[in-house]
Amino acid sequence: MIPVTNHQQELFYGLIRIHVLLHASQEPIFGLAMMEELAHHGYRIGPGTLYPLLHGMEQAGLLKSHVERGDGGKRRLYKSTPAGRQALEKARVKVDELHHELHQAHPRKVSGRRPD
Ligand SMILES: [Zn+2]
Repeated sequence: MIPVTNHQQELFYGLIRIHVLLHASQEPIFGLAMMEELAHHGYRIGPGTLYPLLHGMEQAGLLKSHVERGDGGKRRLYKSTPAGRQALEKARVKVDELHHELHQAHPRKVSGRRPD
């Protein structure tokens, strides 16, 4: 389990957003189910963090939501927009690239010094 501490939160927000985009591109998602999915991936994220994040992604045009009423009351469902799916495709390329470098024994030096 990766505890999402205040220090790490900003770092992991981007990854959490990518998870949200991925699942919202597959099916309509709602907050509680998404929290459980994120917990499955090792992210402890509460409603006070996730709901503003979902709302912000909707404001940014990546998600679109509607309220659904059922027996258990109402809940807000989110789906990705075409812009969201396009962002997900770009994220896929960038995450693959990052993953590659994270696992290199000797990542490229950025200081300009060449190894001897
Ligand atoms: Zn997932």
